[in-house]
Amino acid sequence: MLLENTGHAYCAAPAALPDDEGARLAALQGYCVLDTLPDKSCDQITELARTLFGVEIALISLVDEDRQWFKSRAGLSAQETPRSMSFCAHAILARGSLVVLDTHQDGRFRNNPLVTAAPRIRFYAGALLRSSQGHALGTLCLIDPRPREHFGPAEMARLEQLACMVMERLEQLRNRGYTDHVTGLPNRARLMEVLRARAHVKGDTGLPCAALGVDICSREYLFDMVKALGWDYAESFLVQVSRALCEALDYQPVYRVTTTTFVFLHEGTAAQRQEHIANVRQQFVQALEIHGIPHQLDIAIGVLPAVDDIAGSDVVRSLLTVIDVGREEGICPRQFESVHAENQRNAFWLLSALPMAFNSSDELSLHYQPKVRLRDSSCVGVEALIRWHHPVLGNISPAIFIALAEKTAQIRQITAWVVRHAVVQAAAWHARGHRVPIAINTSARDFESDDILRLLAAQLKQHAVPPGLIEIEFTESAMASNPAVVRQRVQAIRELGVKVAIDDFGSGFSNLSYLKSIPADIMKIDRSFISRLVENEADQVIVPSIIHLAHQLGFSVVAEGVESEQTARILHHLGCDFAQGYAIARPMPAEELEEWLGMVR
Ligand code: C2E
Ligand code: CA
Repeated sequence: MLLENTGHAYCAAPAALPDDEGARLAALQGYCVLDTLPDKSCDQITELARTLFGVEIALISLVDEDRQWFKSRAGLSAQETPRSMSFCAHAILARGSLVVLDTHQDGRFRNNPLVTAAPRIRFYAGALLRSSQGHALGTLCLIDPRPREHFGPAEMARLEQLACMVMERLEQLRNRGYTDHVTGLPNRARLMEVLRARAHVKGDTGLPCAALGVDICSREYLFDMVKALGWDYAESFLVQVSRALCEALDYQPVYRVTTTTFVFLHEGTAAQRQEHIANVRQQFVQALEIHGIPHQLDIAIGVLPAVDDIAGSDVVRSLLTVIDVGREEGICPRQFESVHAENQRNAFWLLSALPMAFNSSDELSLHYQPKVRLRDSSCVGVEALIRWHHPVLGNISPAIFIALAEKTAQIRQITAWVVRHAVVQAAAWHARGHRVPIAINTSARDFESDDILRLLAAQLKQHAVPPGLIEIEFTESAMASNPAVVRQRVQAIRELGVKVAIDDFGSGFSNLSYLKSIPADIMKIDRSFISRLVENEADQVIVPSIIHLAHQLGFSVVAEGVESEQTARILHHLGCDFAQGYAIARPMPAEELEEWLGMVR
């Protein structure tokens, strides 16, 4: 070991810090070379140096904050030493090559533990390793336990040549890790480096540095393209889109940070930034034709006004968040607000807390909201609505956690939980002689597989529940991606004897053609049409039309969100069959519902 048996602490003054120490360290970090595995080319260079100069040891030494770390070491086993003992720390301070012919004759090194104990350095020559910006990162150095009489300019020039080869290799290694292989653009790691370097050296304009995140299309769009046309096509799509983007941004550095997201750093005025944004939007107004196929890109732009105010690692995270928010809100460009980060964090915590809720016996429960026949106010069934009481966060609205879970596969677990509990409840009421059909909400993802069908069939059988006691509610969005398959699955559910309802009808934007062939029994009119029915003239036109349309297609009609007696009367007058809403009853736990049912019967 290099430092064995030194026997005492090193007391001589270590090399002072160079003036550019902060930027120098940032540059060194930027090479991402510290603590990496040995590299064959680097080892060949140190081996060559050792034989060429006839020394025992040759090292590629990088001077880190408080250590020197050896990327390659010929003739030495130690991987690093403290910076306080480092000869190379003196070399980088001198900003030029350093030669010490005999350490015993040099006051700076005479008492250095590397001189007084193994490897007992007597001769040292180090050629600087300079970064592309001129920072001294360390040296390629020669070490020998015998002093030398001479190490002239010609020898030093040769050592410096080898040092240049080392730097070329380090650049190569860095670029390999810093380049996106599809587009050839710098990648996220490179962006992180640039941001890290900014922490040491701010730009010279004095203006804030903004980050623009440009999402060229949704991930689904790209994945569908891969599925339809293959990876090669998708890659040439990405290359061409990235070129178009770079052109719109005057060929300034653009980083590819996710499959579809690119980042551009902009140090300038808000007006200049707007101009860049306008150029990017303009660039993609026209469809982009790639191998004869036109792509009308749905780009989203997120803006982070000042990257220096947040940690580098948060830049990409925040941009992805604001891009998603912008997509959801339909706003482009969307500027980042701290509340977005908070929402994102909350969403993350909620989704990670959800699996615990499934395992706990009392966090999740079902409330039931009655549905009544308008003609005689009799209860014809209930809708099961999930409730989550978190031990710390309290009650969490399903409008929040269902919307989050719908973005992940967790929604299927929720649906499965609701199906199991609703069927058990239906069985309990059935056993006591009550006929209370329970409607269960589903999400688009539930129809991506046959799981829901299998689960429903198994649960009904296991608990001996007549299928007519369960209804399934699904929204138009379920039909969006693969209508034929969803239709088939809905039909299969119906064939079990389970009734099917189209939920929140009218809240989406889909065309009406799916109504012709959807195998449903019930249509639930979205509460946005019902809540202001009494005063809103447009709703007074739309609602009767929907009721008429639904009846013509053979559906019975439920109005959701009936909040007043008057609304219920109007709906009855319009021929609506059933109603649900606060005017009738709020969702309530099973025991309360039992009391409520006893009251109205
Ligand atoms: P939804 O399917 O439209 O359910 C009806 C929602 O409207 C319920 O909100 C209910 O409490 C509320 N509501 C009922 N009557 C009225 C009224 O007169 N006025 C107003 N303003 N609101 C009324 P909740 O329980 O907060 O559920 C919100 C949404 O969360 C539900 O909307 C549904 O989309 C979803 N959800 C709830 N439980 C489940 C579930 O078990 N599975 C799934 N996939 N989604 C669920
Ligand atoms: Ca519903």
